Amino acid sequence: MAERTLHGTGATPRSGVGTVVWYGRDISLPDPDDVEVDPETERRRFADAVDTARAELESEREATAERVGEDEAAVFDAHIQFLEDPTIEDAVETMIADGGPAPNAVDAVFGEHIEQFEGMDGRMAERADDLRDVRDRLLRLLTDGERVGLGDLPAGSVVLAERLTPSDTAQLDTERVAGFATVTGGRTSHAAIFARSLALPAVVGIGTDLDTLEDGAEVVVDGDNGTLLVSPDDSERAAAANESGAAVVNDSVKTTDGRHVEVAANIGQPAELEPAAKRGADGVGLYRTEFLFLDRETPPSEDEQYEAIRQALDTFPDGRVVVRTLDIGGDKRIPYLDLPDEENPFLGERGIRRSLAPDSDLFATQLRALLRAAADGAGDLAIMFPLVATIEELDAALDALEAAAGLDDYDAVDPEVGVMIETPSAAFMADELAARVDFLSIGTNDLTQYVMAADRENERVGDLHDPTHPGVLRAIQQTVTAAHAEDIWVGMCGEMAGDPDLTELLVGLGLDELSMSAVTIPEVKTAVSETSYSSASERGDRAQLAATRSEVHTTLDT
Ligand code: PEP
Ligand code: MG
Repeated sequence: MAERTLHGTGATPRSGVGTVVWYGRDISLPDPDDVEVDPETERRRFADAVDTARAELESEREATAERVGEDEAAVFDAHIQFLEDPTIEDAVETMIADGGPAPNAVDAVFGEHIEQFEGMDGRMAERADDLRDVRDRLLRLLTDGERVGLGDLPAGSVVLAERLTPSDTAQLDTERVAGFATVTGGRTSHAAIFARSLALPAVVGIGTDLDTLEDGAEVVVDGDNGTLLVSPDDSERAAAANESGAAVVNDSVKTTDGRHVEVAANIGQPAELEPAAKRGADGVGLYRTEFLFLDRETPPSEDEQYEAIRQALDTFPDGRVVVRTLDIGGDKRIPYLDLPDEENPFLGERGIRRSLAPDSDLFATQLRALLRAAADGAGDLAIMFPLVATIEELDAALDALEAAAGLDDYDAVDPEVGVMIETPSAAFMADELAARVDFLSIGTNDLTQYVMAADRENERVGDLHDPTHPGVLRAIQQTVTAAHAEDIWVGMCGEMAGDPDLTELLVGLGLDELSMSAVTIPEVKTAVSETSYSSASERGDRAQLAATRSEVHTTLDT
């Protein structure tokens, strides 16, 4: 048995074994009473540290732009700005002139600014994280602390960190990293979503217990159970090391009785495309485009968005890429858009509601970028609108699309257009919606939250936020029936679609496409090819007639 087990939230259903490497660990400051301070020497040390930090940031910026993309690289520009901020620099130099050691002066001045930013709202509060990064970098240089390069870790490393930003995760070399674990973060944090796309074992939100581990400790990251096993025994180590998952299936798959089911990937940034293709995705079933807007200072330009979508279309030349238009709001806050403070942001201004009103300019730019990419890219583009609740919203979104096409003369591109079914209203109105579009895609993360009135982020009602409750299954069934009555395809892109234990049920309910984080694509493709559609649909009928969740599960088990 392992010496100790730490508990958190499993981000990827994978296990890995390796050696702990801390990233960005706290640094101990000198005691001012114990050190001789020569202000001139300290001032020079500070100036040298700033120069080195700038050089490091510039080279990390370049490497990230090359490896992941310009969007992710932009975060380093913000860090350089803070590094060169004259107010901060003057304050540090004043403290040094008053006899403070350089690291203590940096810590105090940055600490004050961090506190100020933390006290502000939205966009400003998020700047505190950038300041923390710059402070830690300077402190590491001033205290001779080694900075771990995430792109250059020894093979078999397990990275431990307070938190990992999307750009940190993008730098991880998945050939060498056995997994990661963080103090903070939940299943839907960016690091967790990214880990699932890269099939990287990960456990997030372990809390401060994680701080008790030292560099060099041996651990198993068990992303299935959400645990970190410290000093695992031989059998625990072997179980983690031998886990291989299902073999990748590159061809498209059919049930044993010949029904084709498309199995596609959910992605949020260009870096996730190759891993998805390598795991056998037929295409992209959900491109969460709002992720292209995160970790930067201003929205991406039309050209940047064009490039990102074009890259997706070229990665799947024979496939379909379903791009969801901006889904901002709810838990997805974009700092520079100054979102309103709302009592219930999940019931507020989010998804298509924002695209039709405050963000209509961003929406128009995005639609133009999509149409241009569709005209030039190899694969087939499909456009999908999020969080639709009314026919009027769909009509207005279609008008905006038509205006974008007319403006740039892209009428000939003619992508498929669809609607996400995420609100109870959309499920009830699925017949009317289906009559107006080319496809429906069921977002079970939000649909479950709204059908069951159970916040998807709130563990206390986690039991209710389960798509196998009969109420949710009936909403799914109703949507599938409505789509098929109009002869259009219907997919699912919520987390439910990526659970191989539910594949038979979903095939039986009649889903034509399942889209998921790349990690479980091989398992789901294998499950589809082992399913008989005729017996699955009998089981699906029985499941959605069940009165309770346990009856549903009994149906699935027999
Ligand atoms: C969903 O709600 O199921 C979905 C796929 O969208 P998101 O998780 O991005 O809200
Ligand atoms: Mg959603």
